[in-house]
Amino acid sequence: MAFKLIDLPYADTALAPAVSAETLSFHHGKHHQTYIDKMNAAIDGTDHADASLEAIVGAARGSNQGLFNNAAQTWNHGFYWHSMAATETAPSDELKAKIDAAFGSVDELKEQLKARGAGHFASGWVWLAEKDGALTIEETHDGDTLADQDGVNPLLVVDVWEHAYYLDHQNKRPAYLDAVVGSKLNWAFASENLARGTAWVYPA
Ligand code: MN
Repeated sequence: MAFKLIDLPYADTALAPAVSAETLSFHHGKHHQTYIDKMNAAIDGTDHADASLEAIVGAARGSNQGLFNNAAQTWNHGFYWHSMAATETAPSDELKAKIDAAFGSVDELKEQLKARGAGHFASGWVWLAEKDGALTIEETHDGDTLADQDGVNPLLVVDVWEHAYYLDHQNKRPAYLDAVVGSKLNWAFASENLARGTAWVYPA
């Protein structure tokens, strides 16, 4: 099965100025597409050809770094597009209670996400996840993902690779984090992920 680039769940102008249409044209239209194309080429005619993306990520982890990188990046970017919203969203009562228990408040969680994102060395991802029943902030490096990790349910992710922000904010990753974490995170998506209790699945 060849995987496809999923549509953005908003207009390409909807996140500006936090994330511009120009950034999305490259990040979604070029970077994400390239990860998908390379993964599709790598699985064509192999035992992975009919597997789910999540199964491919798990099978390739630790055994086929090239395939892992492209499969994990395919998943991470699909999850990232949904982790942002054009309109203001709010956490469910269930999510709000877990945020308050782990971080004190939504505002404090946002501050910690920004700080972890700003402090993350080089390329990677900063996540809000449920782990062993409680919420936690996790970081993964390069293309690594939480998609296949047992006992971890990713709720939201922020891409901190330079290609996510350089056209809009140049080297100022904290400005990108202020803009995205401050007002563009999709708390409705996070609430759905928490309620489901299992990791989001990349659309086949
Ligand atoms: Mn990216």
